[in-house]
Amino acid sequence: MDTILVVNAGSSSVKFQIFAVDGDGRLTRQIKGQMDGIGSRPRLRASGADGEPLADRAYPIERVADVPAALEVAGGWLRDELRISPIAVGHRVVHGGPEYERPVRIDHGVVARLEKFVQLAPLHQPHNLAPIRTLLANRPDLPQVACFDTAFHRTHGALADHYAVPFHLYAEGVRRYGFHGLSYEYVAKTLRQVAPEIAEGRVIVAHLGSGASMCALKEGCSVESTMGFTALDGLPMGTRPGQIDPGVVLYLISEKGMSASDVQNFLYRDCGLKGLSGVSNDMRELEASDDPHAILAIEYFVHRIGLNAGMLAAALQGIDAFVFTAGIGENSANIRGRIGEKLSWLGVELDAAENARHARLISRPDSRIPVYVVPTDEELMIAQHTLSLLMNSELSGPKRERVS
Ligand code: AMP
Repeated sequence: MDTILVVNAGSSSVKFQIFAVDGDGRLTRQIKGQMDGIGSRPRLRASGADGEPLADRAYPIERVADVPAALEVAGGWLRDELRISPIAVGHRVVHGGPEYERPVRIDHGVVARLEKFVQLAPLHQPHNLAPIRTLLANRPDLPQVACFDTAFHRTHGALADHYAVPFHLYAEGVRRYGFHGLSYEYVAKTLRQVAPEIAEGRVIVAHLGSGASMCALKEGCSVESTMGFTALDGLPMGTRPGQIDPGVVLYLISEKGMSASDVQNFLYRDCGLKGLSGVSNDMRELEASDDPHAILAIEYFVHRIGLNAGMLAAALQGIDAFVFTAGIGENSANIRGRIGEKLSWLGVELDAAENARHARLISRPDSRIPVYVVPTDEELMIAQHTLSLLMNSELSGPKRERVS
């Protein structure tokens, strides 16, 4: 059986999934796993298609000291114990820079180009590239594909792509890239199946997870996003503040004596719902809390989503549908309900019962704007891209040897 390995490598964990490919090119998820605690307390956990546990084992720190070692151990487990030998690997790579507007088959030239974008995403890009480089060195015959969080937003026009800064900074890459692109691409694709007439219109998608952003879609393409140069901008998130006056950063540096890395850690780890509530970054815990700061954090989250919806509606000159996705968007009827109230001026009226049962369509039949819940699947998107690049290169190039 042919399989595709999807890899999402972070600083201290590597998530992976295995998809089986059938004769018609259909993909079926078989395994979900992750190696956590890289360099501290490594632990491999994996489960099968129906959630049945397949592995839960700890490793000594010397065995899994870094991200490439984690992928090597997980790959060894797949190969030696499950007899799985993927025909290709699809990687989530956060930054495709200004150049990449679609996934790309990886070679040494591509890696060199992607290394230039490390400075644009220093917390993510090096970890995304590490296992790619190792596989390229050790398994040069194994096809690898890079899928970018930025690529889907490369359809933005100049007004959505610029900051009001001198042009030379834009030329060197200081642009409003936007992120969560694989999620938005999956949602846009799914909408074409579930509501084709709406998918061709003006849609706001709210990706509300531990990272959160919103995207304005016109005819299935991204025209604006709440995120910009980095994944810090826009909506408040689990631990990131979202939109913040740059003057606050200057204050932290000049009055609090914080260094660039202090500020970076602060903005990525200590702000957002966690910082504002002082309780948790997890929406479930905030919803369960009666702490006034937790209540304020939820109200702020909902308020900012309402404000940003207005901005994106202006970018689209009206909207035809609103979509919720990701951890909070898919699972919290309470947050969806509160956001629905904020959007009532746009003509949104949620159906409380349909919302409570997490139906796909959660607005009332007479709501001027239909509201959908579309569970996202970034890994499936990566597997689809990987397979399609593999098939295209097979069609256009010499016949590929099957990699064992
Ligand atoms: P994601 O990053 O998409 O995996 O989303 C993770 C976030 O979704 C978590 O931090 C939780 O805050 C949130 N979440 C997941 N399930 C629920 C739920 N049932 N109710 C509220 N929030 C949830």
